Amino acid sequence: MARPQRAPIRISAPTSGRPSVEGRTGYFADFTVYAVLLIGLVALGVSGRTGSHVAWLGAFALGAAFWTLIEYGLHRFVFHGVPRIAAIHAVHHRAPRSYLWTPTWLSLVVIVVLFLLPLWRWVSLNTALGVVTGVVGGYFWYGIAHHIIHHGRPQWLADALQEAGRRHALHHGSVTGGNYGVTTSLWDLAFGTALPDRIPSAQSATASTRRDGRRVPN
Ligand SMILES: [Zn+2]
Ligand SMILES: [Zn+2]
Repeated sequence: MARPQRAPIRISAPTSGRPSVEGRTGYFADFTVYAVLLIGLVALGVSGRTGSHVAWLGAFALGAAFWTLIEYGLHRFVFHGVPRIAAIHAVHHRAPRSYLWTPTWLSLVVIVVLFLLPLWRWVSLNTALGVVTGVVGGYFWYGIAHHIIHHGRPQWLADALQEAGRRHALHHGSVTGGNYGVTTSLWDLAFGTALPDRIPSAQSATASTRRDGRRVPN
């Protein structure tokens, strides 16, 4: 019987060799920049120089909560929905420990344009900084959690993230797509994309990714 043809995953990003956004330097530089930025933003909020602590804290909580929805939407509709980016994300699905990174300048521009400037203009600088700190904190924690889930170190954090790791392993092994949230299952439950605990063995972790970002068995 003819072997079913695998849908091509070569779109516009290279599928052989290393994508330009792979490498330890860019990967850890992104973590470093965001760690420094987060410390600076928290220090500014705590100092109270931009306004009320209570308003800042409320805005921070709102930003952090909103990040979880961004995380879900990014993974579902961008990483698995935009062909060029899905091709790069497919590299992560094939090699989960590869050091793929998002250009730091790009995420910073998005945060400034979508959150800092509009909220500063239409609400206040204090609220804008609170929301931005929440979003930056969420993004940083997502990166850390995702790294630890795949690398298993440090052990104590890997143990604490066991449930998130189990959910994410199901995402990597799924042919239908689902479990797009890494730090929380909330939006998968809300939008009906939570995967059942066990997936058929045919849907192995060695499956590859189709053009539309869905996964097909090898
Ligand atoms: Zn994915
Ligand atoms: Zn992953």
